[in-house]
Amino acid sequence: MANNDSEWRADFPLFQQHPELAYFDQAATGQYPQSVIDALNAYMTGANAPLHRGLYKLAYAATEQFESVRSQVAEFLHAQAADEIVFTSGTTAALNLVAQSFGNLIVDGNSEIIVSIAEHHSNFLPWQHLAETTGAKLLIAPVTADGAIDEDWVLAHIGMHTRIVALAQETNVTGAQLQQVRTIADRVHGQGGYLVLDGAQAVAHTDVDVQALGCDFYAFSGHKIYGPSGIGVLYGRRELLVEMPPVTLGGGMINEVTTLTASFAPAPLRFEAGSQNALGVIGLGAAIEYLQPRRAAITAYLKGLTSQVRSALAELPAVTLYSSPAAPATVSFNVDGVHAHDVATFLDEADVAVRAGHHCAQPLMHALGVSAVVRATLGAYTTEDDCQRLIAGVREAAAFFA
Ligand code: PLP
Repeated sequence: MANNDSEWRADFPLFQQHPELAYFDQAATGQYPQSVIDALNAYMTGANAPLHRGLYKLAYAATEQFESVRSQVAEFLHAQAADEIVFTSGTTAALNLVAQSFGNLIVDGNSEIIVSIAEHHSNFLPWQHLAETTGAKLLIAPVTADGAIDEDWVLAHIGMHTRIVALAQETNVTGAQLQQVRTIADRVHGQGGYLVLDGAQAVAHTDVDVQALGCDFYAFSGHKIYGPSGIGVLYGRRELLVEMPPVTLGGGMINEVTTLTASFAPAPLRFEAGSQNALGVIGLGAAIEYLQPRRAAITAYLKGLTSQVRSALAELPAVTLYSSPAAPATVSFNVDGVHAHDVATFLDEADVAVRAGHHCAQPLMHALGVSAVVRATLGAYTTEDDCQRLIAGVREAAAFFA
């Protein structure tokens, strides 16, 4: 099949330089469409200046452009207002900020925190650490046979001590998406607790409406939605953000500093100490502009390809699948008796790039009884030919290592 059946592939110049590459690592870091590259180029060549500080026209314009992305992100997430959007260096930084700032305000030795076994370490370690330092109890929801977070388990375990429920809206190894977010949100709110969603994977595939979902915090990263790495977002409900103390102190986040005291700027600037990541934010804005109007069509296309890959791999007797049948763009598997790294190296010989390892989800690996899995994740540029090459490569790997 011709390598042209993704209507979006031509938007990604990397594949002009690497026409042979079948890139299946979008969930780790995505490729850039030309429009994102152009936006970065335009900012660097025509608009660069310090943000929020300069008293001249170029600096005002740069600040305005930067702040317009905050409004754009608020619309993207259906947040109520731009000041509910904090720019961070990524999902990891966003979740750590919630745990350290908000978590320490509301969690104590009588509290319970609920996470799942399928969380990325970014949404596991901050809560494990908070539990350790406060004496709170960490409750860990299992996954179902299909690789979904067991939401019924979560609902059954929300109680009067629950302060935080922190879950991936789409998990990074099994690719399963939460189905009962609103019910979980209502239940935890009913007990005086809060819902934190890790949207690092979901936001590429789902129209996220933080108000309809009812979550209190939502985190995602630029580089998993065709934007730059090193930039991410924390959405927080305004009434919660305004109460939260800053975690990182420095320039740009103060009202007044004396030798004895300091008062801090309102949220969100209070959480953005230091020179902000202007290129990251500009690139994030361009990535959202690229993704948002295409997301539904891209996701429908990727779901079709993903289920083809899954069905083909399921027919190979030596393959064990770990991803959910409903995963929009993830197929995780192992070839029996072969280390995931060996499978990845074998596939790389055929220019098929997959991820192999524990995927920053060691608790899940332990629960599955494996040390590593192979993960193929699809992006807008993935073609059917790429998928056929992946399937053929896995078949050959199974035969080669047999
Ligand atoms: N959460 C999930 C579900 C992820 O897949 C990832 C990255 O792979 C992260 C969090 C961390 O994202 P970042 O490395 O951009 O901070």
